[in-house]
Amino acid sequence: MKVKVNQDKCIGCGTCPSLVPEVFDFNDEGLAHVIVDEVQENLEEEVKDAIESCPVGAISEIE
Ligand code: SF4
Repeated sequence: MKVKVNQDKCIGCGTCPSLVPEVFDFNDEGLAHVIVDEVQENLEEEVKDAIESCPVGAISEIE
């Protein structure tokens, strides 16, 4: 799976980088971004949790 963060929505709450630091990190502006092209299969469940946990719905799966 592939995911992206909509940085117009992200409020920098820290949930996704703390849940899956292998996939999400903060940029210089304190907003989350995705640091991998493709999510490793063994991290997909954690990433789905992060998508559901984001308080502003900023994370989405892409094709
Ligand atoms: S969980 Fe959502 S709002 Fe929080 S840092 Fe991640 S993308 Fe941003």
